[in-house]
Amino acid sequence: MKNLRLYINIPYCTNRCIFCDINNHLIDDDQREAFYKAIIKEIKSFDENYKYDYEVKSIYFGGGVPGSIRPNVIEEILSDIKEQFTISSDAEISLKILPGKLNDNYFPVYLDNGINRISIDYLTNSYFLHNFLGHKKTDNAMDRTLPVFLNHHFENVNFDLGIGLPGQNEANLDEEVHTLCDFHGAKEITLHPLRIEDNSGIKKLYDEHPEYLNNLNRFLPDIEKAYKYVKEKLEAREYIEYLPYCFGLKGFECLDYKLRKNNTEVIGIGPNAYSCIDGVTYSNTSDLNIYLENSDNFRLIATDIKTIQ
Ligand code: SF4
Repeated sequence: MKNLRLYINIPYCTNRCIFCDINNHLIDDDQREAFYKAIIKEIKSFDENYKYDYEVKSIYFGGGVPGSIRPNVIEEILSDIKEQFTISSDAEISLKILPGKLNDNYFPVYLDNGINRISIDYLTNSYFLHNFLGHKKTDNAMDRTLPVFLNHHFENVNFDLGIGLPGQNEANLDEEVHTLCDFHGAKEITLHPLRIEDNSGIKKLYDEHPEYLNNLNRFLPDIEKAYKYVKEKLEAREYIEYLPYCFGLKGFECLDYKLRKNNTEVIGIGPNAYSCIDGVTYSNTSDLNIYLENSDNFRLIATDIKTIQ
């Protein structure tokens, strides 16, 4: 049997962050139910040969923030995946969450369904920056105790840390690394450089207010410099950069990232998801309406189909 990755794209967020380039593809609240049904139909559309030819080593729920949808939907998706595919007994099952948007009743459902890696869309410790960037966060007790809880219950917990954020400097990067490593006990940290995408809200903001670029407090730092600075701090604490921008303590590396790096075959489920299977690569349409309207025949709406050698 060949190794397989499954990527489930849930483009749902309760926020619209001004720097995020997926904003244009997010589902609205009134599209959610239709979207859940379409995802299930897509999973069930794979024929039984996949069950015999492939063993799923990793299932990754990304998006968007899949931890913001009802956990029983995640449960149903996983149950259908288990019926449709052969899942390795040691498969990594990852799910992305956003702190401050969680209900603690969700976690038992995740655990019961085999989710063993949680990836926190953390961004920064700065309350001001969360608000400035539209990445809302509540400052409640659960936020502060959440990493302790997650570290205790899940095999691996990753923090996505933003670098190159407005006003970030060596002193507050020190503070970020200290909070994540020494306070939250992060096992894995993935760095996400803030890039000013053409269609993003932050590009519009800087175009409309060029004075922000001249204001030292809102200065966008050199990403390369910020990366090297954080890397040095993490390596001094024995984190290994096992892939570019991905750091983990020994034994806590994301299997999905490593399989991706090795070009393991992948099936992407959901709008805009990329697949590479049997020498053919294709993407699902990124147009959510087309995705929903064609949920009876997804193969007809695949784009960028290419055969590779
Ligand atoms: S940064 Fe995260 S929370 Fe914000 S819109 Fe993008 S995926 Fe959603």
